[in-house]
Order: sequence, then C-alpha cells, then structure tokens
Amino acid sequence: MLNIILFGPPGAGKGTQSQFLREQYQLTYVSTGEILREEIAAETELGLQVKEIISQGNLVSDEIVAAIIEKKLAENLDSPGFLFDGYPRTVKQAEILDEMLRKYDMSLSGVLSLEVPEELLVERMLERGKISGRADDNIDSIKRRFVEYEEKTKPVLDYYQDTDNLYPVNGVGAIPEIFQNLCSVIDSL
Ligand code: AMP
Repeated sequence: MLNIILFGPPGAGKGTQSQFLREQYQLTYVSTGEILREEIAAETELGLQVKEIISQGNLVSDEIVAAIIEKKLAENLDSPGFLFDGYPRTVKQAEILDEMLRKYDMSLSGVLSLEVPEELLVERMLERGKISGRADDNIDSIKRRFVEYEEKTKPVLDYYQDTDNLYPVNGVGAIPEIFQNLCSVIDSL
C-alpha cells in the first residue's frame, strides 16, 4: 500500500500536483479542504459550522478533521493507497493519523514536502483568487493562513523528520517538472 502525505504551505501547489499523483498511482485522494468546501456548498450542519472559520483563514478543529479522515479511511479499505492533501496540519492531527493508520493496519510511506519561497506563494494565491472563487483567497485571509501555517503546521515537519518519513521536494518550476520531482521520490520509497 502506498500512503502519501503531500505537505506544504498554502499555495505550494498541493492541489495541482495531487490531481496528477492520484491518477499516476491510483490513490484515494483525501483533501480535508476540498471536503470542507463541499460541506459549505451543500449547507450541511458541518458546513455552516466551519464556513466563517475557513473564510477568515483559520484552521478548523482537530476533532472535525479527524472525523472526516476516519470516514474516508473506513470507506476505502480496499484502496491501493491514500494521498493526503492538506492533512495533517497540526502535530495533534499527525498523532491522530498515526493512531488511525495503526487501527486499520496501514502505515505511512512518506511525507513529501513541497518547498516554495513565501513571496512566490502569495503571488500564486492572489492569482488563483481571481479564478478560484475561494472565499479565503483574498489578502487578509491569505495572511492569516500563513500565520496558522507558521504557528501550527510547520511543527508537523519536525514530527515527521523525527520519524525519518520526511522528503523535501523542490516546488518551484514548471508543473510537469515538479510532478517528476515528486514521482522520483515516490518511486524510491
Ligand atoms: P486547503 O484547501 O487545504 O487550503 O484548506 C482550506 C481551509 O480549510 C484551511 O485554511 C482551513 O481553514 C481548512 N482546513 C483544511 N484542512 C484542514 C486541516 N487538516 N485542519 C484544519 N483546518 C483545515
């Protein structure tokens, strides 16, 4: 089984690269951000609960995303593997994921961390905001998302460094080149 986490700051290209990776390796794609946006669009109870939090650029609670992940795992137990995009985003989430994978007799193959300088990230996100229609692709929410990333998400890198699961990947360049960088790492796992 191939279980991959695609890690990186907001705007690093995780969503774009995930679309290629899930196809290449036939993985079940799990993007907590995408699932939460679907809940908001469908105006479910969960959607209403997280709408404001997300549009302001804050992280939703670890419990909410844990429930989303557990459901996805349980529904896809015969999958050749999972691709996690935008999860885990806190050390607590990383611990919960470890526990859940153990529970289902799965393990992590690797954490691929897309490295992109911050100036380029902001530029990419503002560009994306023109077409994405995402409520959180405006300058105030983007700033807030970076603060959340620095404070809560970056420590996740140390967590995986300590367990020898971390693979930094250059995230600057043309989309196919970056995809190749990712595939080289995955093929060596
Ligand atoms: P994304 O599409 O991954 O950029 O996520 C968009 C937004 O959804 C984030 O800014 C958070 O508000 C929320 N979100 C997505 N994934 C998580 C997560 N793992 N933990 C907490 N909040 C999340």
